[in-house]
Amino acid sequence: MAVMPEGLFVNGEWRRTASGGTIELIEPATEKTWASVPSAGKNEVDEVVKNAARAFKEADWANAAPAVRARALYNLAAIIRREAKDLAVMEARNVGKPIGDALWEINAGASCFEYYAGGISRFCGKTIPVDKLGFDYTIQVPIGVVAAIVPWNFPFLMACWKTAPALATGNAVVLKPATLTPLTALALGGLGAEAGIPRGVFQVVSGRGSQIGDYLVSHPLVRKIAFTGETGTGARILKMAADDIKKVSLELGGKSPNIVFADSDVDAAAASSPMSVFANTGQDCCARSRVIVEKSVYDRFLKGFVEATEKLAVGDPLDEATMVGPMVSAGQRERVEGYIEAARKEGGRVLCGGSRMKSPGFYLAPTIVDGLPSTSRVCMEEIFGPVACVMPFETEKEAIALANETQFGLSGSIWTRDLERAIRVARSVESGVLSVNCHSSVHQAAPFGGFKRSGMGRDLGMEAMSLYTEVKNVFISLNYGQ
Ligand code: NAP
Repeated sequence: MAVMPEGLFVNGEWRRTASGGTIELIEPATEKTWASVPSAGKNEVDEVVKNAARAFKEADWANAAPAVRARALYNLAAIIRREAKDLAVMEARNVGKPIGDALWEINAGASCFEYYAGGISRFCGKTIPVDKLGFDYTIQVPIGVVAAIVPWNFPFLMACWKTAPALATGNAVVLKPATLTPLTALALGGLGAEAGIPRGVFQVVSGRGSQIGDYLVSHPLVRKIAFTGETGTGARILKMAADDIKKVSLELGGKSPNIVFADSDVDAAAASSPMSVFANTGQDCCARSRVIVEKSVYDRFLKGFVEATEKLAVGDPLDEATMVGPMVSAGQRERVEGYIEAARKEGGRVLCGGSRMKSPGFYLAPTIVDGLPSTSRVCMEEIFGPVACVMPFETEKEAIALANETQFGLSGSIWTRDLERAIRVARSVESGVLSVNCHSSVHQAAPFGGFKRSGMGRDLGMEAMSLYTEVKNVFISLNYGQ
């Protein structure tokens, strides 16, 4: 594997040991240790943040001509595509993700760099007609040192979603991947240097959030935190950032609705819905895990949904036919099993799955439950595993109320052939990203993010460039001295 990282990526070089010890990585499909990386301690965090602050001032990245930054980011995208196969195998082995999905993720990361490389010269300020005689204009300037903290479910893509717009707008980035899945993010550090990103402008440190997370977030030289992860961690970060009024953007958890109206193509919705919740083994912030179905077609939908789910190819992530791999860790699987147990205790019907599948590997069968109150824990909390809860509704109003019942507001799908209803319901569902008659609503060029406790700020699209800049307004007077 040509791109295997050799340690932390600090100031343009690999750092093979660190004061926080070592992180052993367990392959989810085999349950065997297969790699290890250094674990940064506070020393290394302090060092990389200081390097980044220095590079922000001295490396001439922030003030470089747009074409210079764009060229480096286009280079990086080309290098990612060149190494896509090896990066995908690394991601598949580290996360347990099917190789086809991993390859999609790596290429989507490359597209992200291409998009923001192109965005640099299109991200414009304004000229504003003001009351005084003169010329008033705005420019967007980089914030400074950005700490990008990402989770384990889409490690490479989340790293790219943060890093690409932050670098495009001229910031210096310290990237911290999740402890369980640091490999492709560390590799990205080395590839960035090959692409021409100056020393210290982009560094990557693996390390345990419990040991270094608070220290990184509250480091006085960090001016912006771009976080994706659990709602609880996001809330903690927001509190820590408050005293220094640091800029914070948060992409957090979800419990998204999949609303099926009787006037939809019910069979197509049933056939498509398994991958709206079981893709990435349900470890997806957008997972449509609250399936809300009109009563008159409830049994028909459920039958098709269960049949399609039972046909999903669950297996070895490196087998190209696999659609669903193991869960990321033993701990995560146990956590999800706790929810299935709770569903059974509360009188839910487990219609398929509900148990481990094979060994070795942290496999858990895609599971569908119904018969629970919509306000039960299993229906309200983010499970982050292969579990869908199905519930009936009778009126459109009731469907919307069920969709909005949770604390989250990230994603969701609406299945209907009635255009007016689609527009009405899409307006009323409190989610940041919705899809009608399909289960995918993530596009590089479109904003992505959540309402309520699913986050603040928008990744992707040109919106993300605003997350990494301050607006500066300048007035040039034509009446000297006034
Ligand atoms: P997590 O436990 O919140 O961890 C996310 C990242 O934060 C990891 O790098 C983690 O490091 C780090 N961290 C932990 N404690 C920290 C602290 N006190 N200060 C700073 N950083 C800290 O989330 P996860 O379990 O990795 O990921 C799953 C969650 O991410 C789910 O809730 C999912 O919905 C959400 N997610 C949201 C989106 C979105 O776009 N909305 C996308 C993907 C995932 P360690 O790994 O070392 O603990």
